[in-house]
Amino acid sequence: KIELRNFTKRFDGQAVVDNVSLTIESGEMIALLGPSGCGKSTSLFSICGIHRMDEGQLLFGDKDVTNLPSQKRNVGVVFQNYALYPHMSIFENIAFPLVVQKADRATIRRKVADIAELVQISDLLERKPANISGGQQQRTALARALIRRPDVLLLDEPLANLDAKLRLEMRSEIRRIQSETGITAILVTHDQVEAMSICDRIALMQKGKVVQLDKPREMYANPANMFVAEFLGNPP
Ligand code: ATP
Ligand code: MG
Repeated sequence: KIELRNFTKRFDGQAVVDNVSLTIESGEMIALLGPSGCGKSTSLFSICGIHRMDEGQLLFGDKDVTNLPSQKRNVGVVFQNYALYPHMSIFENIAFPLVVQKADRATIRRKVADIAELVQISDLLERKPANISGGQQQRTALARALIRRPDVLLLDEPLANLDAKLRLEMRSEIRRIQSETGITAILVTHDQVEAMSICDRIALMQKGKVVQLDKPREMYANPANMFVAEFLGNPP
């Protein structure tokens, strides 16, 4: 499980994430949901170690990773723009985290083949990112994020760059791939329908605080306040 304890992040003295505590159970997929600027990406960047936390603790299972740099945390990250390496093949993109770890070639070949099958891009491994579709690029980014079997998979608006039809398809694909691997995941989104349709629980954020943490149905049926009700589209 992943545990945030009293996490605060400030920019220029201003708290953009303010004393957030959150436990994500093993194998669970949770949404960080909320309007623009509420602190979702900042939270994600702090969990993966790009940002340093100003206060609080972060635990991966029993391991305190609060002061570990990004490279020493086993996290998989997919950003909105995928950030694939354009000069590398799809195979090389997916293999990259293992190459950095100096894994042997046979292991790399086997792991890439397995993960490519899971995300269904086995026949595209020789191509370059520019020569595959947006959905396929996203599958590649997912494969690269999953290749080291991370303690947590972090997804920051992974569907935002896709057209409406592909967004629906990839929504269920992300959930399928997450369930099949059983990897704990955090999905950042400002889209309440997306959060409700694929996540086990939702942490709804407002101005740096988690205002409600609940299963989608419960949150929809019993919103903690007016903000939650209106954000989920179920005002009284
Ligand atoms: P969006 O849905 O628009 O992506 P978000 O919830 O991800 O929003 P964050 O990116 O976490 O929001 O930003 C939270 C607040 O922190 C915003 O007010 C933003 O301007 C501020 N902020 C983010 N990064 C920095 C930074 N590097 N320096 C100063 N302020 C920052
Ligand atoms: Mg963001």
